[in-house]
Amino acid sequence: MLKLHRNPGRLLSRYSALLILSLGVLMAQNTTYKTLSPEEKRVIIDKGTEAPFSGDLLYEKREGTFVCRQCGTALFYSANKFDSGCGWPSFDDAIPGHVLEVPDADGRRTEILCANCKGHLGHVFRGERFTPKNTRHCVNSLSMDFIPGSVERSATAVFAGGCFWGVEYYLQQLDGVKAVLSGYSGGRVKNPSYQEVSRGNTGHYEAVEVRYDPDKVNYETLARMFFEIHDPTQTNGQGPDIGKQYRSAVFYRDPEEKQIAKKLIAELEAKGYKIATKVLPLDVFYPAEDHHQDYYFRKGTLPYCHGYVKRF
Ligand SMILES: [Zn+2]
Repeated sequence: MLKLHRNPGRLLSRYSALLILSLGVLMAQNTTYKTLSPEEKRVIIDKGTEAPFSGDLLYEKREGTFVCRQCGTALFYSANKFDSGCGWPSFDDAIPGHVLEVPDADGRRTEILCANCKGHLGHVFRGERFTPKNTRHCVNSLSMDFIPGSVERSATAVFAGGCFWGVEYYLQQLDGVKAVLSGYSGGRVKNPSYQEVSRGNTGHYEAVEVRYDPDKVNYETLARMFFEIHDPTQTNGQGPDIGKQYRSAVFYRDPEEKQIAKKLIAELEAKGYKIATKVLPLDVFYPAEDHHQDYYFRKGTLPYCHGYVKRF
């Protein structure tokens, strides 16, 4: 009997361990939370604000990565830091998927949180024209740590194409793909377990998060591969796996990914395929329990429900 972990976020997954080793920066589901000092707790947990011009990262100008002080998740790159004069570290962009935006309790501003541990970071403001991105993530120094060093560029993409083991198996073979993680997206329940998703009523899709080097492979190449390793015309599941959790979907993080997915679907439809794949905004990707990762690799067998078919 397999042991099911109901809270995968608390586990140091194999994927996290790999990234910690290879990047030196905690990029994914980081699970070891630092014990916070009273000042850190006041900002990170109680959503306080440090005094302007007081933070030790305000004048940090070296190349590197700003990570969550509580959980270590990478949040901002030094390339996006700029001097706004406001007294807090300012960034005109965040690492995609790693910073959550929520309405602030004050009813006016937009609060930003670490996507992993939900620690308070600060606020995001748009339309101030400081930089061409027209965005200022105004972040407490106390919410972050700085890891100096050259930044290894990394990006992620999320796809759902039936049983996640098969999608993971094929996508991890592409050049430029660093890691593929199986998990769940698109549903209503937080931190769902495999058993909950399997019942088919949480709304989740079995999905994979692909972490890739954007200098070696681009999103479109990944998305094309995704459409060729599963049957995007099947409406009720994938292969013998029938159920809502096995439906086909592209979860986009930004308008560019959405536009690429729509373009590829239009290409396939022009060739006569009736595409069932949904194009959906990514909310959260929940990694699956550890024993679902690298299933076929560890088992030494081939996926039963996926295979490569040239469609483009
Ligand atoms: Zn965090």
